[in-house]
Amino acid sequence: MTVLAGKILWLLGLVTWCAIRYAPYRRARRTKTAVERDHNREWVLLVTSFIGMFALPLIFVATGEPKFANYTIMAPQIVLGALICASAMWVFYRTHKELGRNWSATLEVREGHVLVTTGIYRSVRHPMYAGYWLWMLAQALLLANWVAGFAGLLAFGLHFFLRIGREEQMLRERFGDAYADYMAKTSRIIPGLY
Ligand code: SAH
Repeated sequence: MTVLAGKILWLLGLVTWCAIRYAPYRRARRTKTAVERDHNREWVLLVTSFIGMFALPLIFVATGEPKFANYTIMAPQIVLGALICASAMWVFYRTHKELGRNWSATLEVREGHVLVTTGIYRSVRHPMYAGYWLWMLAQALLLANWVAGFAGLLAFGLHFFLRIGREEQMLRERFGDAYADYMAKTSRIIPGLY
């Protein structure tokens, strides 16, 4: 029963994320790209993320596989997972709204790209990635399976650490001192810590 509840809540998170991203995704497709970085590398990382964040969890939700990695889950873990998942969705909603046309799934600078430094972007430079960390933490709590639960943290973690320096480098080249000043005043994902 708890296993099923965790699966349903995880699915609810996935559907909410798709709904939040649908309009920004369509808008982004209509906004021209001025600079694109690391095209092949970014696509390999996106596919890796897809496997860990969606494919393996979906296989577990649909079939209960891989069964050797199943474990017994308690209700408080599900409740905590659901709360973290809900906060991640709120972060996705805010960041997509505030980033607007400047958003992209891979490393890109758009035509007419504007540097956003206010709202949820005021104290951290990568709130959307903070949201993904939260979401993947929620996935680890909601899915009672070591493989499906932790695949997202591993895959997104890899993507995050291999991308973050290059994204900042790209934005420094595009926005110069404005981005350097912004970096000096903000943390990456945890205010005051990292
Ligand atoms: N790293 C940010 C944005 C993720 S979307 C976050 O976690 O919230 C990725 C794209 O956003 C990048 O290709 C980059 O062009 C753009 N971007 C990142 N930070 C930005 C900012 N402060 N203002 C405008 N665009 C930004």
